Amino acid sequence: YFSKNTWVYFNGTFVKADHTEVDLFGQSLHYGYSAIEGIRAYNTHNGTRLFRAEQHYDRLRRSCELVGISFPWKTDLLVERTYELLDKNNLRSAYIRPLVTAGQNMYLTPAKDSDIVITAWEWGPFLGTDLIRVSLSPYQRPNPDSLPPEAKISGQYVASIVATNEATQRGFDEAILLDRDGYVAQASSNNLFIEKDTVLYTPATGSIFPGITRQTVLEIANVLNIDVIEKKLSPDDLRGADSAFLTGTATGIVGIAAVDDAVFPEEWSDTLGATIQRAYKNLTLEKENYEVII
Ligand code: PMP
Repeated sequence: YFSKNTWVYFNGTFVKADHTEVDLFGQSLHYGYSAIEGIRAYNTHNGTRLFRAEQHYDRLRRSCELVGISFPWKTDLLVERTYELLDKNNLRSAYIRPLVTAGQNMYLTPAKDSDIVITAWEWGPFLGTDLIRVSLSPYQRPNPDSLPPEAKISGQYVASIVATNEATQRGFDEAILLDRDGYVAQASSNNLFIEKDTVLYTPATGSIFPGITRQTVLEIANVLNIDVIEKKLSPDDLRGADSAFLTGTATGIVGIAAVDDAVFPEEWSDTLGATIQRAYKNLTLEKENYEVII
């Protein structure tokens, strides 16, 4: 999906990907000191629409502020440029990846300048559309006192890659990471919900990345009168759930069949997750009464 012929927004202008160059002395490449976002554009009944783009770009600004990367761009301008980028690439639906890189500096003081790159490509659901199998990871979520967990900083993803690699090598689709106290936190790049006795539960903020899809699910549940409780969940809470699902921009909402050898008893189509999944689809595709949900 990465064509060198694709248009990218690069340092204030639109250029073809093969006319860009990476600074070999940039701080981002050496230290993972950059910030990213993941946004989706949907081919809706009302044309191509970015889903909650302002929220994503505001979060990108916040990620940069939290670690000292300068962010001189206005959200409105970035949203506008993203629509132009989709247009230039003839993309009606897409995954959009903004990346803020820090400039040259081999010391560990923040580089003075930064650049923003926005790329976009057609991308199906990150974990497919079938139910997935997950495994409790031997790796923990990064310590929230080392790096703010709500900062979407590239370096954080080394831990996600290591955990995913470990789980997929054992034949699972995704890893579920615990926090430093042994409670269930989330998947390597998705948030987690479980259903028990017709109530949804999701790990409270603290060690998790508080996803925009997670927030959207809380809003949908509120509209649909589904109870959701944010609290600490133990591995036994997860294994003993009736059903479970993951949420994320790239993933959407995907049901989980089993965690390790514990198969969830509820038929996916009967779960609250399936109901929320339908509502989320309607919302992102701006179908039916989606306004009610926003
Ligand atoms: N957790 C992590 C670590 C992530 O990278 C993501 C994707 N950005 C999520 C959860 C889900 O967040 P969102 O719903 O905002 O895409």
